[in-house]
Amino acid sequence: MRAEIIAIGDELSTGQRLDTNSQWLAERLTELGVDVMFHTTVGDELDSNVAVFRAAIDRADVVVSTGGLGPTADDLTREAIAVATGVELVQDEASLAHIRSLFARRGYGSMTERNVVQAQFPSGSRPVANPHGTAPGIDMTIPRECCQPCRLFALPGVPAEMFAMWRETVAPALLAAQTTRRVTLHRRIKCFGAGESKLEAMLPDMIRRGRRSTQRLSTGEPRVGITVSDTTITLRITASGPDEAACRKLIAPTESQIRELLGVLVFGEEEDELQHAVVRLLNERHETVAVAECATDGLVDHWLADADADSSTLLGGVVLHEAESLAALLGITDVDPASPAAAEAMARVIRERTGADYGLAVAALPKDVRYSSDREIAGSLQMALATSENVRVKGIPLSGHPAVVRTRAAKQALNMLRLALLNHATIER
Ligand code: ATP
Ligand code: MG
Repeated sequence: MRAEIIAIGDELSTGQRLDTNSQWLAERLTELGVDVMFHTTVGDELDSNVAVFRAAIDRADVVVSTGGLGPTADDLTREAIAVATGVELVQDEASLAHIRSLFARRGYGSMTERNVVQAQFPSGSRPVANPHGTAPGIDMTIPRECCQPCRLFALPGVPAEMFAMWRETVAPALLAAQTTRRVTLHRRIKCFGAGESKLEAMLPDMIRRGRRSTQRLSTGEPRVGITVSDTTITLRITASGPDEAACRKLIAPTESQIRELLGVLVFGEEEDELQHAVVRLLNERHETVAVAECATDGLVDHWLADADADSSTLLGGVVLHEAESLAALLGITDVDPASPAAAEAMARVIRERTGADYGLAVAALPKDVRYSSDREIAGSLQMALATSENVRVKGIPLSGHPAVVRTRAAKQALNMLRLALLNHATIER
């Protein structure tokens, strides 16, 4: 089943409000195994609404709209659906009685003519009860020449009302309409340390797009999607099947294959970030870390502290901005804060002073590439990791807008520690 979501309202089309209803509906539909193919947003104007509903009914088996069911003159959903499907609006007495009783019970005063409109429905449709508000929704089955009828649900824009109506009426109705029950499950694998295209090349034939969902189902092969956010790569494995266990069974071999092909590039799953992987590894080994940061402004410390819920692995961190602070706080003198020597000394000293097993340091950005609002940063940034045995220094090539440089650098530093922890683990095994 292919679905379209329609979000209605000037506040959405003009960008004044973020359309979170569509996101919520898309997640719910996907959970039910319905493929959401289109999201449409339209302002409060009749002709545009009619056009949008016509197109949706034509190209989707399930249409869910949100908004435009209210009592004001800009609420046009009922009328738009009636025009788009070529039927009259007819009064539903039960809905009118419900609205009347709500007005009486809540002491809203006398009903306006527009409230009466809220009890009007496209002929042939059924009302969807709205336990938290006045406007009932619309449930309509629209015959099509091309194929099976289109099932359309119109829900209010008020999120709490929409959620309740979805749970109580729409989801059960969609489940009942499914001849074969289908659920869809996602599994996210998080990777760091290679670019998107290199990673894709390491997974031959796995990331294919444009295959139709029916083909996917018949081959039983899960789909793998790739997204990048600030150099962290997420591989999302999606499978559909009769139940969750069947989906998990489809996902498992693909996940194992990905882990085997990518090795240490994989650091976690689902909501994991690099800091969670690092804290897990440190915890397993009963080891600790301390950080000294220039270019990352305390971000590495902040992330580690967030991930280290029981404060067992992070012993402390310092943020240093100038040569003077290196001298005053760590006693490191006569070095350029951007130099490999500075990174090396910072890692060593922070480890010694805190007694941590690892000292992780990020030096300053070279002076000529300091942050500026409109400039790309290019150059290299020095990082170091000190252990009881040695201090390793690494120059990280930097490029990109200043806004992302700090995040990327913090991730590189965490990854340096993660790889060191993994190497230890392999040697010991
Ligand atoms: P209703 O059908 O409930 O009358 P409406 O379009 O008339 O819907 P509005 O009065 O436009 O509703 O909005 C009611 C509330 O719901 C507002 O706070 C609005 O911002 C919020 N809302 C409407 N649509 C959405 C959406 N797509 N995503 C998030 N919030 C929304
Ligand atoms: Mg509106």
